[in-house]
Amino acid sequence: MKKRLVIANWKMYIHSPDAAKKFISLLKRKSAGLSGVEAWVAPPFTLLPVLKGVKLGGQTLSSYADGAHTGEISAAMLKAAGATFVIVGHSERRTLGDTNEDVHAQLAAAAGAGVVPVLCVGETARSADGAHFSLLEEQLASALRGAQSLAAKLIVAYEPVWAIGKSAEDAMQPGEVEETVIFIRKTLANILGRKEALRVPILYGGSVEPQNAATLITDGGVDGFLVGHASADLEQFVEILKSCRK
Ligand code: PEP
Repeated sequence: MKKRLVIANWKMYIHSPDAAKKFISLLKRKSAGLSGVEAWVAPPFTLLPVLKGVKLGGQTLSSYADGAHTGEISAAMLKAAGATFVIVGHSERRTLGDTNEDVHAQLAAAAGAGVVPVLCVGETARSADGAHFSLLEEQLASALRGAQSLAAKLIVAYEPVWAIGKSAEDAMQPGEVEETVIFIRKTLANILGRKEALRVPILYGGSVEPQNAATLITDGGVDGFLVGHASADLEQFVEILKSCRK
């Protein structure tokens, strides 16, 4: 049975080592009996070496392996600090200047170091003429250019930017999520090949909360979630995990 995957993107919400350690230990206890679902956590970089007991990831990375890049962190550094995965191309990083080219290079750097890339794609707005589908296609094609061999480890997170950081009422409706996931899967099949595309887990992110998690997982056609604000609230995060049980 393929487990569902729920990734916590802590952003800068939880930063004290003590609070983070307590969160993880309670998370483990409260989610211990949940079958068919797995929780991964992407804390701020500084917390990676102090946390244990759950799969950890970075929230971004440098495309460079080393050198004069002040403030940057490489895939190998992430790995040495305990990360097994990394979020790549998050919209909040794209807003800070990361281009499709940067995302492509970061993805290759992560995969090259054996760190699983969680590639985020998503439109800033939906338009009646369907322009958002072309944008998604472009983001996927440029990130995965020449990287067919990545398919074995790749995870894609569909994150419509307009739905991020709001509340369940503002999130995308399950039917629209499902339609977009089918489009993403088809696009992946064109880029990676059908067999490989079927293997890639596709997550949804954008105001997933306990109130909408169950309908999104049942009717949205996704393999799990990437959760922002609700992942920093233990009770809410555990409720979301419960909705994903199989
Ligand atoms: C995110 O930024 O990855 C995210 C999904 O945020 P939120 O759940 O807060 O919308």
